[in-house]
Amino acid sequence: MPMLGGHHAISGTAAWMALAGSTTVLGHSAGLDLWDLSSAQVIAGAVVATGGALLPDVDHPSATISRSGGLLTKGLTRAVSRAAGHRGATHTLLAVVVFTGLAAFVNGLDWQVEVPVLGEIEAGAALLVTVMCALGARALKVVEGLLLPWTVGLGAGLLVAVVAPDTSFWLPAAVAVGALAHLIGDLLTTDGIPFPTWPLVAKPAKRLASPLWQRSGDIALPLLGDAGSAREWLLCTVLAGFAATTVGATVAGAPGMLAV
Ligand SMILES: [Zn+2]
Repeated sequence: MPMLGGHHAISGTAAWMALAGSTTVLGHSAGLDLWDLSSAQVIAGAVVATGGALLPDVDHPSATISRSGGLLTKGLTRAVSRAAGHRGATHTLLAVVVFTGLAAFVNGLDWQVEVPVLGEIEAGAALLVTVMCALGARALKVVEGLLLPWTVGLGAGLLVAVVAPDTSFWLPAAVAVGALAHLIGDLLTTDGIPFPTWPLVAKPAKRLASPLWQRSGDIALPLLGDAGSAREWLLCTVLAGFAATTVGATVAGAPGMLAV
């Protein structure tokens, strides 16, 4: 059983808020503020990291991604699953580089679209935010159904195009943070993830094989036990609390942010 999509999603939000956030909660700094982003960029990045944390499960035909875009995503996840197997190629550092590179590429396309009221927007960035937000919202069960997540996603994509138009750094960075959070989440369960230098895989000799470094070369640090364990639920409850508090504090700390 794979780790739940909602748990991966919230781990992406929390990881992003911990690294990129700059808010203080009860007098304590609650984020490392690594990249000196504005409040709008931090929140937009949190949305993207939430969706980005679902990308590695594009190899899983019953995961959130698969159920998000009808036949199109079903076909995509089936094809990837057949080619890579679950927790294979898409659960590697190389895949994180590819996801991030693709995001940077689409983000960097100078593709201007005229939108009524809003004026000219960068359509590549708006599209990425739309997809990531739709995935994240669905995984977190903020909205249900096939169309509603996309409507919410599109709203977020257009909003970001207006309030955080300079997407060159934070958008690909948020995809990377989200996808890495996914790998760490799966690493913490007994199934583990492929050897970090995949496709170069070091397999242990039979007598050295252990749950930490398996015969297949997969590695695990199974602090959470099996996927879906009580410990996984507990950790994700804590992460959800952290994410909600820091996102809330960031929004509250920037009253003008949504009124641009
Ligand atoms: Zn996974």
